Amino acid sequence: MYGPPVAFHGNRHTIKIDPDLCTGCWRCQQECLGQNVIGRTEIDGRPKAYVKFPDHCKGCMTCLRNCLTNAIKVITTAKEGFMPDVGADV
Ligand code: SF4
Ligand code: SF4
Repeated sequence: MYGPPVAFHGNRHTIKIDPDLCTGCWRCQQECLGQNVIGRTEIDGRPKAYVKFPDHCKGCMTCLRNCLTNAIKVITTAKEGFMPDVGADV
């Protein structure tokens, strides 16, 4: 990898949670480094995590690493005007 992880470049991050894969274990919410990114709800009487405040996500991927069912995707959008330094001659 060249340079710091993408999470520290000032890009925008958010997550998606697949309710079909989520078991409502809350590991993601308990380990999340953002503020209230992940909330708790119920779908058809079953506990599910949902994205409560998507803009608060820091893109740290802690939730993704703690989810045992791969229900979470972290989505990073490049900051406007940002060109990543990939260490290549162009
Ligand atoms: S860690 Fe995964 S399965 Fe558990 S509540 Fe979060 S999204 Fe759902
Ligand atoms: S990527 Fe980090 S800040 Fe964003 S929801 Fe997951 S644990 Fe929270």
